[in-house]
Amino acid sequence: MDATTYDAVVVGAGFAGLTAARELAHAGLRVLVLEARNRAGGRTWLDTRLGVDLELGGTWVHWLQPYVWAELTRYGIGTVASPEPGRAWWFDGTETVPIEPGALLDLLDEPHRDFGAESRRVFPLPFAPLTSTEAAGMDDDRLTAKIDALDLPAAQRELLRSFWTLNFNGGLSDAAWTQALRWLSLADGDWRRLFAACAGYKVVGGTRALAEAMLADVRAEVRFDADVVSIDQSDDIAVVETADGRVVHAAEVIVTAPLHAIDRIRFTPALPAGQAAAIGAGQLGRGAKIWFALEGEVEHFVAFGRADWPLNFLQSEYHVDGRTIVIGFGPDATALAVDDLAAVQAAVDRLAPGLLVVEATGHDWVSDPFAGETWPMHRTGYLSRGLPEMVRPHGRVRFAGADVAQGWGGFIDGAIESGLAAARSVLLSSDR
Ligand SMILES: Cc1cc2nc3c(=O)[nH]c(=O)nc-3n(C[C@H](O)[C@H](O)[C@H](O)COP(=O)(O)OP(=O)(O)OC[C@H]3O[C@@H](n4cnc5c(N)ncnc54)[C@H](O)[C@@H]3O)c2cc1C
Repeated sequence: MDATTYDAVVVGAGFAGLTAARELAHAGLRVLVLEARNRAGGRTWLDTRLGVDLELGGTWVHWLQPYVWAELTRYGIGTVASPEPGRAWWFDGTETVPIEPGALLDLLDEPHRDFGAESRRVFPLPFAPLTSTEAAGMDDDRLTAKIDALDLPAAQRELLRSFWTLNFNGGLSDAAWTQALRWLSLADGDWRRLFAACAGYKVVGGTRALAEAMLADVRAEVRFDADVVSIDQSDDIAVVETADGRVVHAAEVIVTAPLHAIDRIRFTPALPAGQAAAIGAGQLGRGAKIWFALEGEVEHFVAFGRADWPLNFLQSEYHVDGRTIVIGFGPDATALAVDDLAAVQAAVDRLAPGLLVVEATGHDWVSDPFAGETWPMHRTGYLSRGLPEMVRPHGRVRFAGADVAQGWGGFIDGAIESGLAAARSVLLSSDR
C-alpha cells in the first residue's frame, strides 16, 4: 500500500480547505489536499446552465466580509452588483399582490429595529461570538418566539418569518435566536446592510475565478476524486484513507467537510461526544436554490411569499437572449424537484403571477453526499454547545469550514476565516 507522509493533510478543496492548505504550504509545510469532487470550490459552483454561467451555490460577497474581500484584492478580482429590482410582489395575507420594492423593504424595517439593537448588545464583538457574556443564556431561545412576540399585523409578521426563512434556507421551528442576532451584529445591527451583504454583489468571473486563483497559488499537492473514508490517529501519526484504498500519513489533518458530510468519515479514536452530538444534530440550512428562465425580458423584480411555500423568495438576475433568468429559494430541498417544470411553474405562480417558466435547473446540495446542507444555519444550542466543541482539536484532527467559523459562518467569508484559523493553530502546534 502506498503510504506517504505529509506535514498536513487537508480534507476538502472548498474555500476553507484552499485557504488552510495555502497558508500551511506557504509556511513551508508539505501539504496534501484530498478533495472528493473533481473540482475545487465545494459549495460554490459556477456552471453553465440555461445558456449562461450561473452560480449553483454560494454567490454574493460584500465589503463587510473582510476575509473574502481580502482574497478578492489579493488576486485582483472585482465585484459586480446584482440588478436593482423595479418591481416586487408580496403575499398580503390573502393573495399575492404587487408592491413598490421600497415599500416592501419598509415593511421589514420596523420589526428589525429592536432586533438590530439587541444584536449589537449581545454580540459587541461579532467575530468573537463565544466571548458574549449573554449569548449562552439565550441560546435555547427560538427566533420564532421573538417574531411571534412582536406587535405586528399578521401579514407583516408572515413577511418577517419569510425573510428569516430565506436567511436560514430552512424551516424556523428550531432556529436559534442567537443565530439571527449574530447575522445582524455582523452588519452592525442594520438588516438592510445584511440583506445587501447576502444578495447584493457577485464575483466577477464567478466564484470559480476566486477558487481557481487560490488553487493556482496553493503550492500543495491536490488530489481530486479523493473521497476520505477514514482517519486513524495514534500518538505518532494520522493515517488517512480514501475510498480507492490509498493511504497517506500526516502529522496534522484539517477536515473541512460540511457538518452533514463528516459522519461519512470513520474516526479512530471516535470523535468526542460533544463533537458527535453537534454533527448528529446538524444544521437547518437544507433548502433549495433553483434557477429558472422566464419567457421574455421581464423588468427585474423580487418577490416574497409565505415562509412555508416551496419557493418563498424570487430575485431576477439576468436578461439573456430574450429571456429573464431568475433565482428562487425555498426552505426544503425535498419540496421541489428542479427538473419538474410544472411544479416550478406552480411555485412561481404563487409568488409572481403571470410569468411563464420555460426552463429550470439547480443542484440539490442536501442530497449531495459531500455537502448534505446548503449554508450552515444554526439550531438552538449550537452556538453555546456545538461550536466550542467543533473548534477544539481532536488529537491531530482539526475541523474548519463555514460550519465552524466565528464570524460570517454561513458564508464564503466564514470558510476563509476558519481556514486561516485552522492553519494558524497547526503552525502554532508544530512550532513553525
Ligand atoms: C445554495 C447555496 C447558496 C449560498 N449562497 C451564498 C452566498 O451568496 N454568499 C456566501 O458567502 N455564501 C453562500 N453560501 C455558503 C457558502 O457557499 C459556503 O459557506 C462556503 O462555500 C463553504 O466553504 P467550506 O470550504 O467551508 O465548505 P465546502 O465548500 O462545502 O467545502 C468542503 C469540501 O470538502 C469536500 N469533502 C466533503 N467530504 C469529503 C470527504 N469525505 N473527502 C474529501 N473531500 C470531502 C467537499 O466536496 C467540498 O469540496 C451558499 C451555499 C449554498 C449551498
